[in-house]
Parts: sequence; C-alpha cells; structure tokens
Amino acid sequence: MIGIKLPKFKQISINEIKEYVNPKSVYFEIKENDEILVKENDTVEIGTPIIKNTKKETFIHSSVSGKVKKITKKINSLNIETDFLEIENNFKEKDIFKKQKISKLDKKEFIEILKQNGIVGLGGAGFPTYKKYDNVEIKTLIINAVECEPYITADYMLTVNYIKEVIEVLNLILEIFNMEEIFIAIKTHNQLLKDKIIPFTNNKIKLIEVPNLYPMGWEKSLVRYIKHTDYKKLPIEKGIVISNISTIYSIYEAVYCNKPLIEKIITVTGNAINKPTNIKIRIGTPFNELIKICGNYNTDSVSLVAGGPMMGNSISTDQFIIPNNLNCVLILNEQHELKPITCLRCGKCSDNCPVKISPVLVKDNINNKSELQRLDVNRCIGCGICSYVCPSKINLREYVQEAKKKVK
Ligand code: SF4
Ligand code: SF4
Repeated sequence: MIGIKLPKFKQISINEIKEYVNPKSVYFEIKENDEILVKENDTVEIGTPIIKNTKKETFIHSSVSGKVKKITKKINSLNIETDFLEIENNFKEKDIFKKQKISKLDKKEFIEILKQNGIVGLGGAGFPTYKKYDNVEIKTLIINAVECEPYITADYMLTVNYIKEVIEVLNLILEIFNMEEIFIAIKTHNQLLKDKIIPFTNNKIKLIEVPNLYPMGWEKSLVRYIKHTDYKKLPIEKGIVISNISTIYSIYEAVYCNKPLIEKIITVTGNAINKPTNIKIRIGTPFNELIKICGNYNTDSVSLVAGGPMMGNSISTDQFIIPNNLNCVLILNEQHELKPITCLRCGKCSDNCPVKISPVLVKDNINNKSELQRLDVNRCIGCGICSYVCPSKINLREYVQEAKKKVK
C-alpha cells in the first residue's frame, strides 16, 4: 500500500457545527462556457438558477435571496482575481426547503434531480455528479468518508450529525440502480464514526476501515484497497462509482427537500485562529466574514491556505470567495514557515510519489516543454506528498502543477 503517515491535527476543530447564513452579498465565479441567466437589478430567491454551464450542463443557484448586482472582480480560492456575479442579500429568506415524501424514483428522474440542483463532487474536484451516475451499470458505490488530509474535519462532523439522512438516500440509490453493494470508507481507529455508522449497516451497506495513510482517500487507493482491482481512467470501467460523503448529503437534500447546492460545511482551522470551527456556510460567502465566528486571528502575521495543508493553495488575502468545492481554510502563524534551500538530491520526492512521477526532474526541467511531456506530468494527482517529504522544503507540487499547465 503506497502512502505516508501524517501528523494529526484534526482534534482541534472537532466540536459543534456553527452556521453563518447571513452574508451581506454572495459571489459566483463566471467560468468558461457559463451563461448568466439573470440580469442586473433582477430579484432572486434562494435557489434561483443564476448561471448555467452550457458544456457541463450544470446550474449554479443563488444561495441568498436578493438583488442581482454588476459583475465585479474578486479573488477566487486559487488566489486569482477574476469575474464574479454578485447577489446582494435582502435577508428576506424563508425556510423553504422542508422535507417532502417522495414516491419511487427511476434512474432518469434521479439523474435529472442531480442536474437541476447543481450537485457536484464536494471532495475537491467539483465534477458534475449526474455524469458519474449516468452510467449503464453501477455495481458498487464507494462512499468516501476518509478525509485523509490533516486538519480537515468537515466530512467527519457531517457524518456524525447527518448519518441518518445519508443512509436514507443510500437505500434509495441502492434501489434505483439495483446495486450489489455500498461501502462507506472511513479511516481505521475512528471509533465515534464506527459507532455512528454500524447500526445502519447490513449485507448491502457495509462499513470498511482503510489504513491511516495519505493519500488513502485518492480514488485509485480506495478501489485497490476495497475491491482489489485497478482501472485506467475512471472507476466505472470496473462498475464502481465513488462519491464523497458530503456529496451524498447534498444528494439527500436535493432529492428529499428539493434543495439545490447552496450550502456546505467548511473547516476553518490552524494555529493562528483562536477557535478552529466547522461552519455551515452559504456558497459564495467572502471568507473574511467567518473570522469572527472562529474567535479572530491570534497573531498579526498569518498565512492562509485554501484547502488542506497537502493539496491546498496559498492565498494572499482573506477576502477571497468560498466556492462549492472548498472544504477547509487553514490559517497558520507565518513565523512557523520554513524557507526552501538547495535540493539535496535525496530522491525522497520521487520515491514517495504515488503515481511515480519524478518531481525533482520536473523542477529541473520546468522550462523544457518536451522533457516535461516525457516526464508525464499529467499523471500528477496534486497530493502534495513530494513537497511534504522534501527535506529542503521545496514546493515541488507547485512546480508539477505549473508543468501540467505548460504541457496542456
Ligand atoms: S508529483 Fe503530484 S502526485 Fe506525485 S507526490 Fe507530487 S503532488 Fe503527489
Ligand atoms: S525531496 Fe527535495 S531535496 Fe530530495 S531530491 Fe526531491 S527536491 Fe531534492
């Protein structure tokens, strides 16, 4: 089993889930192939579709009620300034997403619900979920509740609080697709999660504990460990679909409450914030509005990472906008940061790369496009192990990400 052991920092953010549902405005990034469905000064409700991606056939919905404003420049979670559509909150929202009884659903209806409600993978990739389920035969569904990066506890807290809802929709999915089995994958020695899930398991819905290694939550690692098989491009080649547990919860809300993807749980943590906390937020909220809930910074010199410490991106401002696929913001004391030194040629980055890339050679050849192609940089899954193990503290992951862009 390929993987490394990482230090644990999860305990600091395990407490109740707080809520922040009253941002002054929310902002939605306008991306390639996006069609804006509203115009300036229009009034929208919570859940009104405001953007359609014509290529992916997915919708983005307003996460507050209010007025459509001008397109404005904001920083996204990749630290890039880009165009956002602003919706100014009028705070007139009502509790409109009540649970309803649903009659039997067939596959077509289920797929349409996912599409219309803008359900995307919340584990990080943001891939449209309906595309995963729109397959001829799904035999096995793996629910990824591994959350293998240090610090992040959003999925953990969601599982603790919403396991009943997750199981309810899993039973429905089992029936719709006539699947053979569903595995809920968690990290081993996670007693509380085990106690929460086991009462709902049976011969079709099974709990599986996976080794406490990083990157165990990577889809290939899960498929290898659970099903003892491999695939080339996508797990569906073997009749397998993998969904993050928070994605499953958003499917529950779409199916049973007719609620589009407008909210998510995010972990705000690190040694430079007074009260590390999980917060249920409206998608599109500016991050700086959450700082007060977390007891403010405990130092003037903080460094921010959008994402976990392994796969996240450094970010230069706390005023960036929270997208639907961000599950953590890490706030660290800047003084703890170590500066990179010269490469020691130790080979650790290559030895530990789960997809067998040589990150040090990528760094050495960063301006040589044909060599970067030969090094097959596109296989990189962005896990960040190379940067983590490097004794010279060189940010190799960043080099490989840059190389991927160069060969694209
Ligand atoms: S090169 Fe990519 S896949 Fe390999 S260790 Fe670095 S980030 Fe992970
Ligand atoms: S791990 Fe760091 S020091 Fe070692 S070879 Fe790779 S880049 Fe050089």
